[in-house]
Amino acid sequence: MSRGDFDIVVVGAGIAGSALALALRGSGWSVALVEAGPAARPELPAERGLLDFDRRVVALNPRSRRFLQDLGAWSAVADYRCCPYRHMTVWDGDGTACVEFDASETGGEELGVIVENRALVSALLEALAGQRDLAWLAPETVSDIRPGGPGWQLQLASGRRLEAALVVAADGALSPLRELAGFPTREWDYGHRAIVATVELDGPHGDTAWQRFSDTGPLALLPLPGSGERHFCSIVWSQREARAAELLALDDEAFRRALEAACEGRPAGIVACSPRVGFPLRQRHARDYVQPGLALVADAAHTIHPLAGQGLNLGLQDVAVLAAELQRAQRRGLAPGDLAVLRRYQRQRKGENLLMMAAMEGFKRLFEAPEPPVRWLRNSGMRLFQRATPLKQQVMHRAMGL
Ligand SMILES: Cc1cc2nc3c(=O)[nH]c(=O)nc-3n(C[C@H](O)[C@H](O)[C@H](O)COP(=O)(O)OP(=O)(O)OC[C@H]3O[C@@H](n4cnc5c(N)ncnc54)[C@H](O)[C@@H]3O)c2cc1C
Repeated sequence: MSRGDFDIVVVGAGIAGSALALALRGSGWSVALVEAGPAARPELPAERGLLDFDRRVVALNPRSRRFLQDLGAWSAVADYRCCPYRHMTVWDGDGTACVEFDASETGGEELGVIVENRALVSALLEALAGQRDLAWLAPETVSDIRPGGPGWQLQLASGRRLEAALVVAADGALSPLRELAGFPTREWDYGHRAIVATVELDGPHGDTAWQRFSDTGPLALLPLPGSGERHFCSIVWSQREARAAELLALDDEAFRRALEAACEGRPAGIVACSPRVGFPLRQRHARDYVQPGLALVADAAHTIHPLAGQGLNLGLQDVAVLAAELQRAQRRGLAPGDLAVLRRYQRQRKGENLLMMAAMEGFKRLFEAPEPPVRWLRNSGMRLFQRATPLKQQVMHRAMGL
């Protein structure tokens, strides 16, 4: 046991930080979870109308779902609502090629599941409630960090100070902690803004996720649970900045028409859209995820284009690996902030994260290329890919985290 207020302080109780605190349950380390937002769990509307869904949703792969099941946080999500998707249709909006994925090709029942972000946070915080070895500090904002005590001293905006042997930054893409601690990052603008909204369809979505690629950016339609004869999807429409600004400025009916035209009849007609929100997209990767007594996880360590829905899936794997290494350190009598312990985490995660980021960048560039030969090759490649069963299965297994 290290001296100081806590062995481990996790900063940020989004999905990654809450999952880490939960994964450290019973580890023998004393843990504090510090969150700048409200202390109460997010409210979850029972109704299923256009305006009742969280506009932020994630496509979780089976590996992430299993991890949340192991943490004891999945049943609350499933009891509330989520939507498995069993098929996926990907097509080239500037050509005619189309690739279909089906869960049966992987021997599984589903390719993944669509979950509202606030349902995940709520389930994780519910599972954390009453955890005896956890201090829940919210709303509290970390405003500074400096060496002190057994590792680091955190200054909170309320005036309180905390000492910890290990501080984990799970404070999101803009990670104030990463900046305060001086972790260098490599980053660039994708030049895209993601427009997210909930849409109502005039027919069932058939548990299918759709993805249309075009030279101005990808459009994803992700199935949501329906209500009687009402059918919903969440959209993530990434477009170049100028086009995204135009789309965000349209009135609701004009936006609905623009979206319907972009969907090219897949899935069904769009009858209504919720208000939209735009997220600027930036690729970011911390050169190192660790320093003595400090670690970055999930979006604080890396952000990636949402085109293949992998950001949080990678982040949850960071959490699973870091928690396993910290449990191992406890058994071996090592301090949680020991650099050798933290480096084992970094070694296991950096390669996979970088590989996925490179793949997403390649995809984005391939579909942005305006040259006719590249377009022709892309279209032909997609057709070949659709028929190349072993290759397709390999890609599906990787995306599903199998
Ligand atoms: C449009 C879009 C679509 C996406 N779709 C998918 C998808 O389909 N599948 C997928 O896997 N991923 C997806 N992602 C990525 C996914 O949303 C993120 O990876 C994930 O939400 C990051 O979670 P996090 O816990 O790391 O960060 P956050 O959710 O940002 O949580 C950070 C927390 O830290 C707190 N905090 C910040 N600063 C401080 C401070 N100084 N002191 C205390 N607390 C602080 C914040 O209040 C917040 O609660 C998508 C992303 C976008 C933008």
